[in-house]
Amino acid sequence: MKIDVLTIFPEFFTQVFEFGIIRRAKLASIVEINVHDIREFAVDKHKMTDDRPFGGGDGMVMKPEPIFAAVERLLGTTDRDEYPKGTRVVMLSPQGRPLTQEIAKSFAENAYHLVLICGPYEGVDERDNETLVTDEISIGDYVLSGGEPAAVVLTDAVVRLLPEALGSETSAENDSFSNGLLDCPHYTRPADFRGMKVPEVLLNGNHAEIEKWRLERALEKTKRNRPDLIERRKW
Ligand code: SAH
Repeated sequence: MKIDVLTIFPEFFTQVFEFGIIRRAKLASIVEINVHDIREFAVDKHKMTDDRPFGGGDGMVMKPEPIFAAVERLLGTTDRDEYPKGTRVVMLSPQGRPLTQEIAKSFAENAYHLVLICGPYEGVDERDNETLVTDEISIGDYVLSGGEPAAVVLTDAVVRLLPEALGSETSAENDSFSNGLLDCPHYTRPADFRGMKVPEVLLNGNHAEIEKWRLERALEKTKRNRPDLIERRKW
């Protein structure tokens, strides 16, 4: 998979993809991540990327020209019907569809090339969404000051699901949301820590009992913290 990030703060990303699973996936050529400065695609001599909103109001709006130019350079077209197969151009936005494990999985399984557009300040010119963008994605019902953290969240959620990124093929299977529930609680050594004991069932080596306990605890935790998941779950 190839991921191209468009941002006015390229320095934000200098370290953020250099750790853990993403770093390993990059080193193993499972993913290639490139960060592009939107300012380099600005058309006027002052390298302006934003302007005042039509109709008045506070704040600035990112101009469409630099983003169109950047997408044209990356994809050879600004018409989303002509993008190469497996290409998704994603606008990170609080107005987008909320990111879920299902969406991350569908990108990991079906996309070869992601172009992630990080909006600044007040947001972007809506013509980007009308023409270039295949997916508007939000990482939650709150407002960030820029799309950069959201692009990192989406990249992480997708890259760890790419084949072989996690090392063992099965490691993502029991993660929260994969089966509609939260993950079960985990414990490691010491078995007795400051008087707090690990549940006995985990120590007795009976795998059927352990599986049953894990499912029960996953259900219990989901009911407590995310009752909405229980209601939505397909039994
Ligand atoms: N006026 C806009 C807010 C823009 S916030 C509105 O109310 O919809 C500035 C930028 O931060 C956005 O362009 C977007 O790229 C990013 N952003 C903010 N909140 C986000 C969220 N929940 N998910 C994804 N991106 C977000």
